Amino acid sequence: MAWGHSEDDPWQQRRPFRAARQQDHEPQVRHLTRKSFSGGPVLQGGEERNVSADSLCPFEPRDHNPYNAHMGTINTKTLRVRIKDKHVPLLRRMAREVNTVWNYCNQANRDHWRKHRRHLTGFDLNKLCTGSSPAFDLIGDSTIQEVGQHYASKRKASGKSKLRWRVSDRKRRSYSLGWIPFKSRAAAFKNGSVRFAGHSFRTWDSYGLGAYAFRAGCFAEDACGNWYFCINVHVEAKPDTKGQPVGIDMGLKEAAVASNGLRCSSDWYRRIEHKIATAQRARHKERVKRLHAKVKNSRKDAQHKFSTAVVRSASAVYVGNVPVKLLTSGSQAKSGYDAGIHSLKTMLRYKCEYAGIDYREVNEAFSTQVCSACGALPPTSPKGRADLGVRHWRCCQCGTLHDRDLNAALNIASAGAGHRPQ
Ligand SMILES: [Zn+2]
Repeated sequence: MAWGHSEDDPWQQRRPFRAARQQDHEPQVRHLTRKSFSGGPVLQGGEERNVSADSLCPFEPRDHNPYNAHMGTINTKTLRVRIKDKHVPLLRRMAREVNTVWNYCNQANRDHWRKHRRHLTGFDLNKLCTGSSPAFDLIGDSTIQEVGQHYASKRKASGKSKLRWRVSDRKRRSYSLGWIPFKSRAAAFKNGSVRFAGHSFRTWDSYGLGAYAFRAGCFAEDACGNWYFCINVHVEAKPDTKGQPVGIDMGLKEAAVASNGLRCSSDWYRRIEHKIATAQRARHKERVKRLHAKVKNSRKDAQHKFSTAVVRSASAVYVGNVPVKLLTSGSQAKSGYDAGIHSLKTMLRYKCEYAGIDYREVNEAFSTQVCSACGALPPTSPKGRADLGVRHWRCCQCGTLHDRDLNAALNIASAGAGHRPQ
């Protein structure tokens, strides 16, 4: 039987927790019960999952505080810690219930759109879901409401009247990675473990979670089946203005070179490309997944180490306004993505905000061609795409031997500080 949404829908008769709504302005949709799902609607789909756990709980903070520029302000930061594997079966059962709520919201919204040409807001969905928590064994109101809110905002952002179903069957290609959101104060840290919905979860606590007050957050699964606890916390920015302004040149050969000599490499994918290719030819899917995760993790690790080191040593950070689009298209696309310039910029920006120091993107035109020592534009400097291979060059005006990227970073630093060499 297909998903029932007609007027003579048998489920319509089993009115769950609240009376039918007669007013026209209120949503006239079935309320959420477990029954409305156990009857047999088979989750449709077969396409890619609609919500990646990553996109919902990125390591980077979701909302930037507009007052960050000032000193001593409170910032929101997302901490992510791995949960021990013994909790995975429980988390999967919870995620299944979350999927039920999500799919209910999806169905309710589509029905409402068909009848009234109006979408349900997060508030409407919360009203529809009110009182449904007894129908679930594991998740509570906090999670149910958060799913409704998330659904409404995702739906709005997509511009569609229906999103993809969340699929709980792990054997399906369209399986949605597990995700269990919750509102502020629903999770707490007690006796060395995370307490949520009446259960304790042990974690590899790399942050010292006990020191933070928990806000909203989620439990999320990655493609390898590992689970993470992602929690928003408030941290106070501690302004630190010692050190020099630092310029950073972003590129492909190396992801970033800072004017104080720090470097961040960019070839994580290329380093194990041959291993991935071998695993793909052998149709060893799990290994391919693990290798991709390894690339991602090592890139992230290097970027975090680089950005933290730069921000700690700088009084201001200036980045060239390199067009990311240009670097991630055409023949350079693979190196462009491997360098992860966009995510590195994001990290630098929010770490500067936390540290209370200035972050700015400056015009990097001519930064590779001008000599950072004497400020001349000598004919010996690398020009255009043809000279991309030139790593070192000597200025014919002052005789300085330059490293191409370091020279560019020095120029960006002085451009950011306001005195561009002429
Ligand atoms: Zn020179």
